[in-house]
Amino acid sequence: MARILKGAPVTAGLNEKMSRQVEELKSKGIVPTLCILRVGAEPDDLTYEKSAKKRCEKAGVEVQVVALPKDVDQATFDEALMKANSDDNIHGILMFRPLPEQLDSEKARQMLDPSKDVDGCTDASLAHVFAGYENGFPPCTAEAVMEMLHHYDIQIKGKKAMVIGRSLVVGKPVSFMLLSEDAAVQICHKKAPCAEAFAKDASHADILVVAAGSAKLVRPEFTNPKQTIIDVGINFDEEKGGICGDVDFAAVEPMVENITPVPGGIGSVTTCILVKHVIEAAQRRLLCC
Ligand code: NAD
Repeated sequence: MARILKGAPVTAGLNEKMSRQVEELKSKGIVPTLCILRVGAEPDDLTYEKSAKKRCEKAGVEVQVVALPKDVDQATFDEALMKANSDDNIHGILMFRPLPEQLDSEKARQMLDPSKDVDGCTDASLAHVFAGYENGFPPCTAEAVMEMLHHYDIQIKGKKAMVIGRSLVVGKPVSFMLLSEDAAVQICHKKAPCAEAFAKDASHADILVVAAGSAKLVRPEFTNPKQTIIDVGINFDEEKGGICGDVDFAAVEPMVENITPVPGGIGSVTTCILVKHVIEAAQRRLLCC
């Protein structure tokens, strides 16, 4: 039986620290505030918004939601983003993506003030991850993976890691974050498909991070008894309903040493990291003013 790496103990520790930091900021007259910029009302966005609001509330962080209609034009969107950028009372901006087709996503990404980019999408934030640049923040999910490994004292240095998925939101940043903590990292993706080779390589990995968005992709042949699996995937469970990860949990859990569940794993840590970034953005502002 594997040790189940739940998100709750990780968030409990973070929540306690964050509440103290918020109290300290408030005693200096600063109320850390997140602006959520949402276009349309996609169910995934609404679910994430709900849990982000709940987490912020718990820590004492204010939330302002700017909800724009799905067919909003570029000028109106730009104006809303610039307003959030220039509002000194807003410390972090979460911009749900992908944006609808009529909007220029790349322009939006470049327009976002890097000091408020709490979900790590601007070039400054990516430079933070890939080149150790001081400004910006890593994407929340990638940092959540690292936070989970640190919390449960999983050794990274000198270990073999495999990351399945290479998106800019999870796969690539997490690969570099593992690399910068001295793991040897292999990255797999859909355009180099060779399921058998993946499985064989994965079975040699000490740490397997899966962020593919493909239910039950990871099966027992991907594993070894000393392995730690971090399952980032969120998929609809066709058999049971509800959500499931990228790992065939029932089949894989008895075969490995540590594994994160879905739900109850990385998802909750991700929203907590978002709140942590808003607080850090407020602290950074205080330091530079
Ligand atoms: P994405 O679609 O942008 O990227 C998926 C990546 O996985 C791609 O690089 C693709 O090449 C690779 N991939 C897909 N199928 C594969 C296969 N069979 N073999 C090898 N590689 C494969 O998705 P994303 O935004 O990176 O998200 C990945 C998953 O993580 C999704 O299920 C998403 O819902 C979930 N997610 C969870 C959180 C969280 O907080 N828990 C946050 C972000 C994303």
